[in-house]
Amino acid sequence: MVVRVLPPSSSWTSPFGQTVVMAYISTNPTTGDVVATFENHTESEVEARVALAAKTFLTYRTTSFEDRAMWMRTAAEIFEGELPNIAQVLTEEMGKTFNAARGEVMKCAMTMRYYAEHAEEMLKEEAIASAASRSGVRYDPLGVVLAVMPWNFPLWQVVRFAAPALMAGNVGLLKHASNVPRAALLLEDAFRRAGFPDGCFTNLFLPASRVAALIGDDRVAAVTLTGSEAAGQSVAAAAGHSLKKCVLELGGSDPFIVADSADLDRAVPMAVTGRVQNNGQSCIAAKRFLVVESRYEEFLARFSAEMDALVVGDPMDPATGVGPLVSAQQRDEIAEQVADAIAKGAVVHAGGTVVDGPGFFYRPTVLTKVDASMRAGCEELFGPVAVVEQVRDLDHAIEVANATPWGLGASVWANDQLEQERAIAGIEAGMVFVNAIVASTPELPFGGIKRSGYGRELSSVGIREFCNAKTVFVQ
Ligand code: NAP
Repeated sequence: MVVRVLPPSSSWTSPFGQTVVMAYISTNPTTGDVVATFENHTESEVEARVALAAKTFLTYRTTSFEDRAMWMRTAAEIFEGELPNIAQVLTEEMGKTFNAARGEVMKCAMTMRYYAEHAEEMLKEEAIASAASRSGVRYDPLGVVLAVMPWNFPLWQVVRFAAPALMAGNVGLLKHASNVPRAALLLEDAFRRAGFPDGCFTNLFLPASRVAALIGDDRVAAVTLTGSEAAGQSVAAAAGHSLKKCVLELGGSDPFIVADSADLDRAVPMAVTGRVQNNGQSCIAAKRFLVVESRYEEFLARFSAEMDALVVGDPMDPATGVGPLVSAQQRDEIAEQVADAIAKGAVVHAGGTVVDGPGFFYRPTVLTKVDASMRAGCEELFGPVAVVEQVRDLDHAIEVANATPWGLGASVWANDQLEQERAIAGIEAGMVFVNAIVASTPELPFGGIKRSGYGRELSSVGIREFCNAKTVFVQ
């Protein structure tokens, strides 16, 4: 094992007298305590891991779907069999409630089983009639794919890349976020124990500053990033420089539209869930609530009351609705965005304050009268803070929904079929969900447009992103 668990501190003096800055630090956001620290892999350790991945691909690409499916199902069994222990790591490492962590582990296992069962069908050669005796397209794996991943769904973000990619015959290198090292190790260990050959799925403890060079490595065929716009720009630039395939899943400010025909008994509780899921730190969380005049007062009153009633506290406690933000920095960022809005005239209907005491807690918050001069009116709110805005009618809602640089998902609440169709056609986003909050599921493509990124994950569209769609023509 090249990674050592070290005493918690931001730097460490090696036995050879060198000061090693440790980049991978696991901090419990409920207490603020550092739980474990890991040093970055050295250049030679990275070289050995990349070389192994490249070598493994040469044989792994020829393995049968049957063998890959067997290993993938075993990985699912590991996740299911060790569910409470794995979930606890997530809660301790990034603060999501234990209930949410259990759900994430189960979703990973379900997705592994889904791709074990369906990948072969998704990738089978397609016949296309032409002048040839046989012609069409087949899907061959690309090779070593680098996955740069965020901390907010530390297992799910990785599995939604890895399950399809490994089933397609690719091998994966993981550069996980520097605050979720235990999740990274857990994933590598689970795939190895499941029986995947060594080198199929490899964790790299790598600082972000070394990602671009790795993308340029000839042995890396493609890269996928889930994360911020800044990271997306940097990864896309490196991929562009070396002309490599790149998929980007970036941020968003998803609208939640309440139309005239909405059923508020269903919409209000889902608005709350949509905003505070994962303690508010989800790319597809509903962030802007656009409510037509006729429903505005009732929606605002009920939504604010339900947000206010949420229990904020220990994420291990089943009664808790909202746990801590991932870090003091993330908590301070959301507090500053709200303070800036209030100073410029926004009105608070719930929350609006940091929770005193240890840990990085912020109260679920509802704001109105937010405009584009405020940070909350033009930045992504990555915490439990909702902006509610009154709009004239559905057409106005669609216009406001589209007036952002992002286009990830949108949730529309309408029972009238004509209203549903207008919203589906009019909204500029990668995903429109009607009478449901936006969610990822293994059967459907996931991804955005505009500054929310490009390319898709999941489904037959996602699994083919890292395949060579090879044209076959036999005369
Ligand atoms: P982040 O800072 O971009 O980190 C994501 C990953 O990128 C981490 O592994 C990070 O490594 C790495 N990274 C950061 N800067 C980089 C650079 N210049 N070059 C290469 N790699 C770099 O994102 P975050 O703040 O942790 O996550 C929140 C953001 O991700 C939000 O905007 C959210 O909406 C978005 N997100 C999008 C989706 C989606 O599916 N569309 C899903 C989840 C989150 P270090 O940790 O070492 O810095």
